[in-house]
Amino acid sequence: DFEEEQQRRKKPRRGANGFDAAAAAERRKRIDAERRQLPAWAARDQLLSLLQQHRTLVLVGETGSGKTTQIPQFLVNARFGFGSGTGQTSVKPRAANGVDQDPGDAGPSTSGRGQANGAWGGGGGNCIAVTQPRRVAAMTVARRVAEEMGTPLGQKVGYAIRFEDATSPATRIKYMTDGLLLREALVDPALSRYRVVIIDEAHERTVSTDVLLGLLKGVQALRGDDFRLVVMSATLDAGRFVDFFPGAVAGLIRGRQYPVQVMYTARPEDNYLDAAVCATLQVHTEEPPGDVLVFLTGQDEIDSAERLIKDKLASLPRSQPATVGEGAEGAGEGADGADPSAPAPAPGGPDSLLVLPIYAALPPEQQMRVFEPAPPGVRKAILATNIAETSITIPGVRYVIDTGYVKSRDYNAKLGLESLAVVPVSQAQARQRSGRAGREGPGKALRLFTEADFGQLEQTTPPEITRCNLASVVLQLKLKAMGIDDVLGFEFMDPPPRAAILRSLELLFALGALDAAGKLTEQVGQRLSRLPVDPMYGRVLLAASDMGCALEAVAVVAMVATENVFHTPRAKEKEWRSARLKFVAREGDHLTLLNVFRGFSELPKESHKARTQWCSDNFVNIRALRKAEDIHTQLLRFLGPPSPPGLGLPLRSCGDDPTPLRRALAAGLFPHAARLQPDGSYRVLATGRQVFLHPSSVLLDRKPPALVFSELMHTTKTYARDATAVEPRWLPELAPTFFAAKAPGQA
Ligand code: ADP
Ligand code: MG
Repeated sequence: DFEEEQQRRKKPRRGANGFDAAAAAERRKRIDAERRQLPAWAARDQLLSLLQQHRTLVLVGETGSGKTTQIPQFLVNARFGFGSGTGQTSVKPRAANGVDQDPGDAGPSTSGRGQANGAWGGGGGNCIAVTQPRRVAAMTVARRVAEEMGTPLGQKVGYAIRFEDATSPATRIKYMTDGLLLREALVDPALSRYRVVIIDEAHERTVSTDVLLGLLKGVQALRGDDFRLVVMSATLDAGRFVDFFPGAVAGLIRGRQYPVQVMYTARPEDNYLDAAVCATLQVHTEEPPGDVLVFLTGQDEIDSAERLIKDKLASLPRSQPATVGEGAEGAGEGADGADPSAPAPAPGGPDSLLVLPIYAALPPEQQMRVFEPAPPGVRKAILATNIAETSITIPGVRYVIDTGYVKSRDYNAKLGLESLAVVPVSQAQARQRSGRAGREGPGKALRLFTEADFGQLEQTTPPEITRCNLASVVLQLKLKAMGIDDVLGFEFMDPPPRAAILRSLELLFALGALDAAGKLTEQVGQRLSRLPVDPMYGRVLLAASDMGCALEAVAVVAMVATENVFHTPRAKEKEWRSARLKFVAREGDHLTLLNVFRGFSELPKESHKARTQWCSDNFVNIRALRKAEDIHTQLLRFLGPPSPPGLGLPLRSCGDDPTPLRRALAAGLFPHAARLQPDGSYRVLATGRQVFLHPSSVLLDRKPPALVFSELMHTTKTYARDATAVEPRWLPELAPTFFAAKAPGQA
């Protein structure tokens, strides 16, 4: 029990058992009362009866209404009350099982009753899987539900995320990331461990959730009445999900929402982080009690904001301590440093501000602190990532500060490299964020952008699968004995275009990832599926490790994945052109990028000054280079160490011999091979399309007879960017099937 544990650690003098037991009982009582107030409770019987009669339930309910925490408990306490549980298929509702157990006595002592009753087990598994798009949600929710059920985390209630499994054979409710359940589904197509699968936060439409939704149709076919699917969403577009699953029924949990006054900034903010810090302090000093929820994009930002807020609080002439008193026990530093000269609070406002971060990498004990009510006279300021948008609800919030940005999973358009990019939120997201201020009473939301900017935002975020690289998804679907070798027949909720799927199948075949029967090959396919890059670049890396130039190839791929490496101010064209000269490789742009990367990585890592100076002297962008360095490290981890995630490939260097690297590039980028035409343009061998060498290419004045390039760019003409000269004879040698087939139409 988390709180008890904290109490014991921090207050040994109060650690007598009697006290703890009494406090815990008190707390359980309070939590129980809170639970019964949740809108989900009013809908409980209706939901259970819907699930008796339907195999798929699409449940829509306002964030904070109790979907994630309560529904799995209802099901467990009702011992499901549907299906046969013994592998037979009877649709007849079983009255004996339909009776809900009073959650008030649903403690450990009664947990055995389900088994005795026989509704558990059978052919249908006895566990409920609840998916979350985010790891931190899976962990915090599991903790909360374990506490509500009065059991230690990892027993009856557990969670599983990549590299961490807090479950046991006793686990009945398992919160997990959608990616993890997807992996399980690829290995066990019947998901036989689970009696119920709940796809939570379905409105987020992550790639994993979308692929899972498709796979779950297969699970339903295999499992029949033994299995139930619940799709939960915080937005009202249940129709899409209901249409996707035949016979599905929709359920609605009516929530409460109080009015929220939305305010915008008059002018656009240059720096949303500073703006968020100021806004937080302004709310703290000017507004009546109520906690503040600030939406930032990631850990770095949250850490800096926390520091800035604490500094500003300390430096204010009429300063107030950043952390205080009782509730801050867990906070440690700062708690004792409370400034005795702290001034009177703002009229009607609380006198102290307790700054609490929440993000995925935070240790679980600290994550849980955001949920603790602030002691009297203290206002909490919760600095959160997007996690607080719909995944978790923090009690006490009356004020929301929305920076308008989110870190979103993004596929690098050039590479298909998965990356995280900070992007503006959609209008739907901004509304959802503001709504968080009105859960317990009227609230206020401050948007750190202008009303006009709000109008410019996308209405909603398109499903990730429409933005991602299909070759990777297809590769995943091919991964295991899924019986979906026919990827074309796979049912996506928003299917990618058929031609696009065909193209990726052809490409995967040409890369050697699929054999003639459409199965994943061991040498290439299996390995590519484990690399977090587009299969073409994955192939470059595999070829490079065979050819003894993996170290160079990793650097090139990292640089290609990085946008805006070069700084090209118009006013200083002469300067940057001459600075560029020392990096230019006559073999092409990839090797030029490699030279830049090498130059940068030779500088002492700890000398920020030397690095900044070097970058400014050479007109390269330090942020881009740092990002390339990050990707570089990541990729080495995937290729190198011989245990997961590493493939255990040889990481050698080809030194100053450019040929192995050029050949490795050709071995993966051959679908982007082009030959010089008499008019000075190029023709792409795979498609016959005419393209022009990009004006930024170092090959522009010595056009080689053949080249491979990274990507096409369309402006007035179609340009090939990032090109490397190759020997024409390498192409049929490195990609025989591809070029044999294309030979007749070739220029
Ligand atoms: P939903 O899934 O519908 O958004 P949840 O089940 O996540 O709702 O949350 C229901 C309620 O439980 C919320 O109002 C929230 O205040 C409370 N709650 C959830 N997790 C915690 C926690 N760790 N500590 C305290 N309260 C929590
Ligand atoms: Mg939820």
